[in-house]
Amino acid sequence: MEVILTEKQLEEDYLPFWQSVLSLQDWRITVSIVRERDMLKDHRGLANCWRNCDDKAARIQIRDQADFNPEDFIIGRDMEDDLVHELVHIVFTHLESPRDRKVERNDDLERAITQMTAALITLKRRNYQELLDRSARFAAAVESRCGEPLVR
Ligand SMILES: [Zn+2]
Repeated sequence: MEVILTEKQLEEDYLPFWQSVLSLQDWRITVSIVRERDMLKDHRGLANCWRNCDDKAARIQIRDQADFNPEDFIIGRDMEDDLVHELVHIVFTHLESPRDRKVERNDDLERAITQMTAALITLKRRNYQELLDRSARFAAAVESRCGEPLVR
């Protein structure tokens, strides 16, 4: 499944949702979609996150879909995954050494963050689908009883 979002969706919908789920409301976080050439040097993967722990400020850059080369990545693009991955990095900021944040990454931490991100997103999407299914069943039940479609 591909999830391609606009900067507006990321900023206004996805970021506030995940910031609250991950208890990061006390951080000032911005997210932007940028072309590969404008991404932080040496951090030009799918996304990156510059952060300042003292000020609790962070800037997340998501790679523009125009610069996404499917051959470079095993799975399809999921910008929500890109965002949540960077937010989970913020949660673990204090467990990272300054060296981890440079090019030589801590692969164990990276793997843990990737797994946790996938789990969080799976839970969110599964529950959303359940809610949608439930509300569809409810609407069908009301409709069969009253003969009137339910207005939502
Ligand atoms: Zn990472």
